[in-house]
This record gives sequence, C-alpha cells and structure tokens, in this order.
Amino acid sequence: MKHMIQENLNRIKAQLPDHVTLVAVSKFHPNERLIEAYDAGQRIFGESHEQEMTAKHQSLPADIEWHFIGHLQTNKVKYIAPYVSMIEAVDSMKLLREIEKQAAKHNRVIPVLLELHIAQEATKYGLTLDDCRALLSDGEWRSMSHVSIQGLMMMASFTDDEQQIRKEFLTAKTFFEEVKRDYFADDDQFRIRSWGMSDDFPIAVECGSTMVRVGTSIFGHREY
Ligand SMILES: *Cc1c(COP(=O)(O)O)cnc(C)c1O
Repeated sequence: MKHMIQENLNRIKAQLPDHVTLVAVSKFHPNERLIEAYDAGQRIFGESHEQEMTAKHQSLPADIEWHFIGHLQTNKVKYIAPYVSMIEAVDSMKLLREIEKQAAKHNRVIPVLLELHIAQEATKYGLTLDDCRALLSDGEWRSMSHVSIQGLMMMASFTDDEQQIRKEFLTAKTFFEEVKRDYFADDDQFRIRSWGMSDDFPIAVECGSTMVRVGTSIFGHREY
C-alpha cells in the first residue's frame, strides 16, 4: 500500500510542470494514508469537512499545509481559522467577511481563492462570473487586511465530454486574466488558478491551471 501511494504521487508529479502545485485531496481517507503520502514528501493536503480536517490537523505533523476545498459554512470558519493554510472555495461576501473577522482574532492573514461556478450542473456551489465581478467591483474586500485573495478555483462539469471540460477551463482562464487586469494587476500574490482533479488535471494544466486537487488517483476510491 505504502508503495502504491508513493508511486501514484510520483506518477502524477511527473505529469505536472514545475509551476503547478499538487494538493493531495485526502477527504474520507484515514490518517495512515496521509502519513504514507507525507513520508513520500507530500505536504499540502485538501479536505472538505471542517471537523475531519481539524481532527487530522491535530494528529498529523505540524508542517502540513491544510487547504479547505469544500463548501464552508460561515459558522464553521472559527474552527479552522487558527491553522488553515488556504480556503479555496469562497463563494460569498458573507463568508469572506467571516474569514476576515476570524483571521483577525488570530492575528493571521488567511489566503483564499474565489470559487467560480462555470460547470453545467445546477447543484455546484460558486460565484457566477457576474457575481464575482460584482463582489470585486464593490470593493469592500480591499479593506480586509486579514484575507489575501490569491486567485480563482473551479470544478468542471462531471462529464466524459473533453471538449466541454476544456471549454469550461478556458472560460476560467480568460476570466482570471480579466480579473487580474482589472483588480490585481499590481498584486503579485494573485496568481493561483486552481482547477483539475483526478479525471481532468492533464486538460486543466493545458488550460492554465497552476494548482491541481487530486484525490482518487493518489489514495484510491473513497469509502463514504
Ligand atoms: C473531492 C474533491 C477533489 C478531488 O477529486 P478526485 O476526483 O478524487 O481527484 C477536488 N476538488 C474538490 C473541490 C473536491 O471536493
């Protein structure tokens, strides 16, 4: 087993250019699996449930960087604010305000990504492109000194249609360029494009991704 997670990581990393960061999505996998990945050199892990992430954070090595990648309820921010390295799926001003508030309490600056809704599925969370434009043009985020908006995150549609997936990633890439130009031209920190999962990360990398979130291809199938 140990051998397998290490091999999976090596195989995936060999496919990633140097400028692409690998987030190992470990949700629903037990600590032993994460330790195998850790021993193979992986330091960034992605989780989508606040309690599970906090329990893992408390029992695993302190130099792990925890990315929260799921939908985060406002009332749960306080539990992860002391230690989270990045909150990847910010999809409302309300959530951003709460992150600012909780980060301030801990005297931290929390890096965040804005989550876009581009996929066809009606059920996925995220800001439409117009919502995202409105959030940024409103300007309140500029006064928040404890959150650092460092880029965009999105999930492509769940489909076998490669053309559709590619189209959605390219929409995100074009939108990133727009937002970079209009709001973050002078901000070197705003540079992360988080798209690509087990089934589509090679396409995502072709479409400008700088951060891929890969679970199943590293750890195997999840048992819910
Ligand atoms: C679960 C999850 C992933 C990883 O999915 P895999 O198909 O297992 O690689 C990536 N991003 C988000 C937001 C997820 O919830």
